[in-house]
Amino acid sequence: MIRIDRVSKTFQTADGRQVEAVRTFDMFVEKNGFVCIVGPSGCGKSTLLRMIAGLERPSQGHILFQEREIVRPDQEIGMVFQEYSLLPWRSVLENVCLGPEFAGHSARECKDQAWRFVDLVGMRDFAGSKPHELSGGMRQRVAIARALANEPQVLLMDEPFGALDAYTRILMQRELLKIWEKDTTTILFVTHSVDEAVFLADRIVVMSARPGQLEDIIDVDLDRPRDRGQAEYAQLTARILKMLEQPEGVIG
Ligand code: ADP
Ligand code: MG
Repeated sequence: MIRIDRVSKTFQTADGRQVEAVRTFDMFVEKNGFVCIVGPSGCGKSTLLRMIAGLERPSQGHILFQEREIVRPDQEIGMVFQEYSLLPWRSVLENVCLGPEFAGHSARECKDQAWRFVDLVGMRDFAGSKPHELSGGMRQRVAIARALANEPQVLLMDEPFGALDAYTRILMQRELLKIWEKDTTTILFVTHSVDEAVFLADRIVVMSARPGQLEDIIDVDLDRPRDRGQAEYAQLTARILKMLEQPEGVIG
C-alpha cells in the first residue's frame, strides 16, 4: 500500500543550519495493516508521517502510495494530529461533514456520511455540540470521525492520544481497534508509548535517535483483544523499551 524507499530528510533552519531529521529510511505498510512507529523524541517520526501525508517532500528517496509517488496531499490518505484540530465554530456533525463537503457531495450525502461516522465513534448524542463543550477524549473521537468520513484508504495518526489521561487513552485504543476491524482501513500510527504500540499494532517499527533510522521491525503475534497482564505482552514491551534506551535519550 505504502512504500518508503531510502528516504532522507534534511531541514534548513532559519539560522542556516542543516538538521538531518530522517536518514535512508525503508519500510512498507501493507493493505489493512496496523503499523505503529515508536522512537525517541525528535527522531523524525512526525517528519516521516508528514512526508507520507504529502505535506513535506523527502530530500532523497521516494514514498509510493499504490506504486505512485506521493507529491501532494491525497484524499485517500487521511491524517489525525495530536492536538484536536476541530473548527471551533462548527458542531460535531458539521466538523465531520468537512471532508465530504470538500469532495463536492450534496448536502444530503454529506449529512448521511457524517452521521455514519459520528455513530461509529459513539458521538451521536453530541452531534450538535461545539468542540469546547466536549472532553478531550470526545474531541479526539470527532477528529478521528472527521478523518474517516473522507473514507481514506490510509489513516495516518501522529500521537493522537498523547494528550489524554491514561484511562481515556485505553478506552480510545479499544475504540480505534474496533473501527479498524469494522472499517478495514490501513493505519500508520506514531506513538511515544511502547505499551500503546504493543496493544495496537500488527507490526512495530522502531526508530533510532535523530537522524531517524530504522532500528528494527517487530511482528506482534499476540491475540486480540490483547491482555496487558499477559507475560508475553510485558516481555515484548520490555524488549522494545530496551532497544530505545539511549545514554542521553528521552522517549516522547
Ligand atoms: P518526532 O516527531 O520524532 O519527535 P520530528 O519529526 O518532529 O520528531 O522532528 C525531527 C527533527 O527535525 C527535530 O530535530 C526537529 O527539530 C527537526 N524539524 C522538524 N521539522 C522541522 C522544520 N520544519 N524545520 C527545521 N527543523 C525541523
Ligand atoms: Mg512528533
